[in-house]
Amino acid sequence: GPAPEGPEQAIAWLDSHDRKFGHFIHGEWTKPGKTFSSDNPANGQSLAQISDGTPSDVDAAVKAARAAFPLWSALSGYERGKYLYAIARAVQKHARLFAVLETLDNGKPIRESRDIDIPLVARHFYHHAGWAQHLSREFPDAVPYGVCGQIIPWNFPLLMLAWKIAPALAAGNTVVLKPAEFTSLTALLFAEICDRIGLPKGVVNIVTGEGDTGQAIVNHQDIDKIAFTGSTEVGKLIRAATAGTGKGLSLELGGKSPYIVFEDADIDSAIEGLVDAIWFNQGQVCCAGSRLLVQESIEERFIKKLKLRMNTLRLGDPMDKSIDIGAMVAPVQVARINDLMQRGVAEGALIYEPDGMALPGTGCFLRPALVTNVSPANTLVAEEIFGPVLVAMSFRTPEEAVALANNTKYGLAATIWSENINLALDIAPKIKAGVVWINGTNNFDAAVGFGGYKESGFGREGGREGMGAYLKPAWEKALKAAPVG
Ligand code: NAD
Repeated sequence: GPAPEGPEQAIAWLDSHDRKFGHFIHGEWTKPGKTFSSDNPANGQSLAQISDGTPSDVDAAVKAARAAFPLWSALSGYERGKYLYAIARAVQKHARLFAVLETLDNGKPIRESRDIDIPLVARHFYHHAGWAQHLSREFPDAVPYGVCGQIIPWNFPLLMLAWKIAPALAAGNTVVLKPAEFTSLTALLFAEICDRIGLPKGVVNIVTGEGDTGQAIVNHQDIDKIAFTGSTEVGKLIRAATAGTGKGLSLELGGKSPYIVFEDADIDSAIEGLVDAIWFNQGQVCCAGSRLLVQESIEERFIKKLKLRMNTLRLGDPMDKSIDIGAMVAPVQVARINDLMQRGVAEGALIYEPDGMALPGTGCFLRPALVTNVSPANTLVAEEIFGPVLVAMSFRTPEEAVALANNTKYGLAATIWSENINLALDIAPKIKAGVVWINGTNNFDAAVGFGGYKESGFGREGGREGMGAYLKPAWEKALKAAPVG
């Protein structure tokens, strides 16, 4: 029959687990331990109880991954590829269930989980199924790390899982992954999918929990590589904790990406791009175009049009298909952002929010905001807000645009808008960012490496570089087996 339109199927799946989850270790569910609640941020209601992983849970998961490694890494690329294809197909088959569960757990508009998150997840597994089969030709002298510990954030829960698990498995690694505490549900459904398609036990292990569980993964002696996506603050802690341990490490951290609009830009397209850049996923996007840099000659006209466009954004129930702006992930994020806004205003910032945009009576909602009258020193310009807040500044010359764009501790992404392609191509390489989009924004593809400069982290995910991040030179392994001297 036709797919149900409401949340019934997702609720039925949660009920089939009595709304209480253990960890997924060696292909089995553990008995739930001490738990915390995962809530729907749009209404505050509890969706399920999630187990708070202890160091011994992590240890059991690492042992399962270690035991599975010889068999998994010895499979041919073709055979590993078949499993990745099966995962991709299963994600597509259950796309509706995944999308609804993601929206209930995270608060993002269903339109986004349905049309962006889940299709990109399937795409990522298809892409890496292809890589698995070409590894021995493309990386002839490389071997997998072994057991990878992977820690992910809550803003794109299943997509970040795919970015971590797909290349790791394609390369022949086994994994212990911890989803973020606010959004574990799609990772747990994914575990069930792995079981259903017959993925060998122990290849994928999911341990849920908070920061302490993440720390137990980082500190575990028998993990060969750590991959982390999250805040710069935690990234720095992880880098320090892994220094000198010989563990591989890749970090995808925060951002404060510039969105540069030149006077000759197609203004209407630039405004639509900007809506996508900063209000996609309520601005909870590491590469969000959160700093508008607009050429002075068009500043007034651009800001006026932008405000009119902001007035037409629709905020509300994330399960409503016509909604542009859903709920923030958790009350703590709303409080953090309100605090940053107060600091910015105290330093002189002016805030515009759409007139008469009502907020639902309950739930974690924030209006889209435009911040003006700021200098680079203002808190709202300098700090990553990770919310629906755009700061606007102006520039006169291209040189000034580049200087402003690079005046940040981050370097994840940038967008340039101009009808003069020579100008855009001249500016792009001068911006210290992992990706620069021209006359477009937020274009992601599994075939293209994504990652940062400076405090946005190091290592790339996606593309050839992303594949390489889960492989190491064979001579390292040989050296370990027969130490010299
Ligand atoms: P966070 O760093 O607090 O949490 C991320 C993950 O790390 C969670 O699973 C958390 O439980 C875990 N964690 C927390 N403390 C830990 C510790 N001491 N040791 C090990 N693990 C620990 O970040 P967040 O608030 O969940 O996510 C938002 C941040 O993530 C933003 O700064 C954003 O820019 C960044 N982000 C970056 C990318 C990227 O690709 N560069 C993508 C998404 C999000």
